[in-house]
Amino acid sequence: MVWSDPEVETVAPGIHRVPVPLPNDGLRAVNVYMIEDGDGVTLVDSGWNGPEARAAIDRGLAVAGAELGDVHRMLITHMHYDHLGQADELRRAGAGEYWLGEEEKESFSILVTDPVESRRERLDQLEAHGAVELAEKGRASDGAVKEPLTWQPPGRWVADGEQAPLADGQLTAILTPGHTRGHLCFLHGDRKILFSGDHVLPHITPSIGFEPHTNPLALVDFLESQARVAALDVELVLPAHGEVFTDLVGRVDELTAHHDVRLDACRAALSEDGSSAFTAASRIGWTRRETPFEELNAFNQTLAVWETAAHLELLAVRGTVTRRVVDGTITFTRV
Ligand SMILES: [Zn+2]
Repeated sequence: MVWSDPEVETVAPGIHRVPVPLPNDGLRAVNVYMIEDGDGVTLVDSGWNGPEARAAIDRGLAVAGAELGDVHRMLITHMHYDHLGQADELRRAGAGEYWLGEEEKESFSILVTDPVESRRERLDQLEAHGAVELAEKGRASDGAVKEPLTWQPPGRWVADGEQAPLADGQLTAILTPGHTRGHLCFLHGDRKILFSGDHVLPHITPSIGFEPHTNPLALVDFLESQARVAALDVELVLPAHGEVFTDLVGRVDELTAHHDVRLDACRAALSEDGSSAFTAASRIGWTRRETPFEELNAFNQTLAVWETAAHLELLAVRGTVTRRVVDGTITFTRV
């Protein structure tokens, strides 16, 4: 069995992993967790919005012995569509309110007011990082989201350390910025279980700072957040993609080591007199197979430039590169 197969898996007593399919994504599915909670259930994440995803939720609820009206609340780890996308729809269909991290407020408000404007800002930044053609391509295309989303805001904007009550204890929100600004993990302290969202994934390296309200220091935040969860007393990790696992510290070490390698590669890709993130990105290999930059499609090239920029900004904070703006282009130079 593959983790993304549409089969509900009980991963701990009273906790069910429900793989909710994604329409067009290399990730295949997102895990929604259903926690039996007294006379109902509490959900972690909600899945993509659509009929197939809804069917998966209903299958999961049946295994948990519940119906949609029994959902006390939905704890959303972050604002990406595969996690948040179905929350308001489920609420309107009878589920309880959804909660989202308060540091996602700005990104959320962009989605429900002017997503086109947020794209414009991102494309301007892409251009500032030297990716002139990619930015032009982006401006010429319509983009996926044209209309503001009609979602109601969450029932609660959750702060770091806030607790969601459960019949057998509570879930504590752990602010873990990086993947997005307001990403939350949820810790069941008594049971030593961490719902890790997209912050710690078993096979994939989480993307950094891909969000409407952009964060130039996303990688700085991400690595600090990795150290933060590694210090928690956790015996079981329930990630949003992939199967559940136990060795949290081991996985954090791998992710940190991965970024150390990428940091070296980004720094080495800079010319003597300095380079943009775009130029550096075009000189290093991508994906696990070290695919050349020019073989990536425009979307993945854009992600590659963002990733490179995030790494170079971190190096600038550490002081091993300098950052200056030359003729409107952000340029990094080895110290
Ligand atoms: Zn995500």
